Order: sequence, then C-alpha cells, then structure tokens
Amino acid sequence: MSKIQMKTPLVELDGDEMTRVLWPVIKEKLIEPFVDLKTEYYDLGIKKRDETDDQITIDAANAIKKYGVGIKNATITPNQERVEEYSLKKQWKSPNGTIRAMLDGTVFRKPILVSNPSVKSWKKPIVVGRHAYGDVYKNAEIKTETGGKAELVFTDAKGNETRETIMELPGPGILQGTHNTNASISSFARACFEYAIDEKIDCWFATKDTISKQYDQTFKLIFEDLFESEYKNQFEEAGISFFYTLIDDVIARMMKTEGGMLWACKNYDGDVMSDMVASAFGSLAMMSSVLVSPHGYFEYEAAHGTVQRHYYKHLKGEKTSTNAVALIFAWTGALRKRGELDKIPALAEFSDKLEQTIIDTIESGYMTGDLAAICEPKAVEVLDSIQFLDTIAQQFQTRQ
Ligand code: NAP
Ligand code: MG
Repeated sequence: MSKIQMKTPLVELDGDEMTRVLWPVIKEKLIEPFVDLKTEYYDLGIKKRDETDDQITIDAANAIKKYGVGIKNATITPNQERVEEYSLKKQWKSPNGTIRAMLDGTVFRKPILVSNPSVKSWKKPIVVGRHAYGDVYKNAEIKTETGGKAELVFTDAKGNETRETIMELPGPGILQGTHNTNASISSFARACFEYAIDEKIDCWFATKDTISKQYDQTFKLIFEDLFESEYKNQFEEAGISFFYTLIDDVIARMMKTEGGMLWACKNYDGDVMSDMVASAFGSLAMMSSVLVSPHGYFEYEAAHGTVQRHYYKHLKGEKTSTNAVALIFAWTGALRKRGELDKIPALAEFSDKLEQTIIDTIESGYMTGDLAAICEPKAVEVLDSIQFLDTIAQQFQTRQ
C-alpha cells in the first residue's frame, strides 16, 4: 500500500515525561506506516526550554503562525520542585500560556465518547470552549509585607490617567491585576458561535457579571451584541440557541442536562471545568483539545498533562497502563486539518478510520487501566501502554 503524501509540514512540538515516551511510539506504530509524515520538529522538553531560555517555545509558536497547523505534546510547567528536579535556571512560564498569548484564540475540548464507560446523566459530549487569552494567565501580582494603598491605574495614549482605589490594605496582603481586550473577547465569541453552527449544537455562556460590573459584564455584552447583530438568524436556521446565565447557575444546570452543547468559558473557568467534564466523562485521557486562533492557526493537543506518576513507574522499569487516546486524537485532528487545508481528502479518511478503530477496540473490551476502572461491562483485557497501541495498530492493519 502506498503512503499518503503530505504537502505542508505539521509543526510538531514534543514534550515531557510519560507523554514523551509514548509520542514516538504512536508515530511509529500508527502514523508513519500509512502517512509519509512531514513535520517541523521543536523539542519543548524542559531541558531544551531551559537550555534555550525558552526561545524554543517562541520559535515553535512562530512556526505555527508560518504553517498554520501544530500538534503539541504535554509539557511540564515548572514549579519550584521541578526547578530542583531538573536543575533549571528558573521557573519557566507555561509553554501553553506563551503559545496561546502569541496565537490568541479559543481552546475547544471535546470528550471522546465510547459506549462502555458510563456517566449517569450525560449522554452527549459537552464541548468546553475555553477563551485562551488574558485574565489570570497574563496577570501582574504583588505580595506586600506591609499595609498601604492599592490602586488600579490606567494611562491612555495621551497620558491621561484613570485611577481606582482597590483597597487600603491594613497590613500585608496580595494584589493581582488582570486584563483582556475587546478584540480578543470578540474573536472568542465569534469562534464559539461558528463552532456551534458547524456542529449544530447550542452555545451556553456564563460569567459573574452581577459582581464584576465592568470586567465580566463586558464579556456578556460583547457576546450578546455579536449574537444579535450577526448570528441570530444563522442560529435560528440551524435550529440551535444561545443561552447566557451566571457561572454558578450554569454549573448547577449543566449537571442535570444530557449534554450535547458547547459551553463557552472564560479562561479560568475553562481550565477548571474542562478537567471536571473530562473526568466525569470517564478519563482525562479521553479528552481532545484544539486551539483555534482567529488568525486561522490551529494547535492540537491532549487535554491531560505529562502523566508524571506513570513516568516515575516507567523509570523504575515497571509497566504502565497509560492511555494514549487523546494523544492519538491530537495527531488525527492535526492531520485531518492539514488534509482540509491542503486538499488531501485521504488524510481526513485516514484520521476518521483510525479514530473509529480506537473506539471499536475499546468497545470490544480492550483498554487501559483508567478506562477499565470505570467500565461496565468489565474489560476483556486490561492492557499496558504499549500493548494498547499494538492492539490498535493490529486492528487498523486488518481494516486496510
Ligand atoms: P496529568 O499529567 O494530567 O495526570 C494526572 C493524573 O490523571 C495521572 O496521574 C493519572 O492518574 C491520570 N491521567 C492523566 N492522563 C492519563 C493518561 N493518558 N492515561 C492514564 N491516566 C492518565 O497531570 P499532573 O500529573 O498533575 O501533571 C503532570 C505535569 O503535566 C505537570 O508538570 C504539569 O505542569 C503538566 N501539565 C501539562 C499540560 C499540558 O502541557 N497541556 C496540562 C496539564 C498538566 P493516576 O495516576 O491515578 O493513574
Ligand atoms: Mg486544567
């Protein structure tokens, strides 16, 4: 069988720990036998980031801007422990944070559903659309050892100042300044409305506008204005709706729905809620994730991290049962998008077929430990990380 030819390289961002161990195995067993894979490789492993003073992360984001589609492995965001573990020069920033700040955009996280692991009320995927710019992820913080006056100061281009007292601090305390831009919020709203129309699902959005009368209210107004002026008719035609409520209300309601909507979330809400949605749907390893930038860039990744605990077992020579599904879906998502942009339908067909093979393999009872723990009926066989990939590869071969 001849391999599928690619025209433009994918920008490949490698990562750390257990996901770094699995990455080349996925390529070798599931992608390279079928696709003449073209990538431009950036090593975002923690050592390389440290060595290059994190320049490699910036170079990788620029490469995504050049080629349009990237695929990223999970990476360590170093805290003090990691600085000691890897003798790092400093606590480098989150690579995802750096990349998102450069590309802007919205992260869509969609659970990968299989029929066997069952969740009570949710029958359809809840897609979390996370605004990937600003707020606490691009903040300024001060920790003071004394009391004093905390103020918010804004200086416009002409040098005019606007001041707002935050608090007269009576003693030591903490301060945080966050921002967002109308342009970014507006492109977030647009990305969500477009996604909802594409997938023919309702769009829910929530903030705390009753408490945050400037900040959160601006999100609400931008969403509502854009919806009224540009999307209302398209939503009606698609038979879907836009629903705005308060963030606490949306959470209470979400629990009781059957799922099947896009949940547009501010940056922090999306960070936290996508993990909750993923684990409620079964496993963090069954959640795909894509960053859609308003400038037409796409970055695919798994929603989970580097699975550190499994990696330490792996280092001791023990077998792990790490689930590579979300990592594989990152590859299929990126290849499908590349196929779409370069008009290579065979890449999309390959991706659809590989994804279906994975779902069928799990549904026939062959899975990793995370799924076996929640699976009803019981798994036929609980596989280790590599056996699981081998099983998928065998199944896929028989379908060629
Ligand atoms: P994690 O890697 O997401 O893993 C948390 C736990 O979830 C694991 O210990 C494991 O549970 C389970 N899990 C996650 N992925 C799994 C998989 N593919 N198969 C089976 N089980 C899976 O989060 P973490 O351990 O808190 O973070 C580790 C590192 O990842 C940190 O340095 C963090 O900075 C980084 N991180 C990176 C990203 C990213 O690059 N996008 C995102 C989040 C975190 P059991 O141990 O119970 O089996
Ligand atoms: Mg999170």
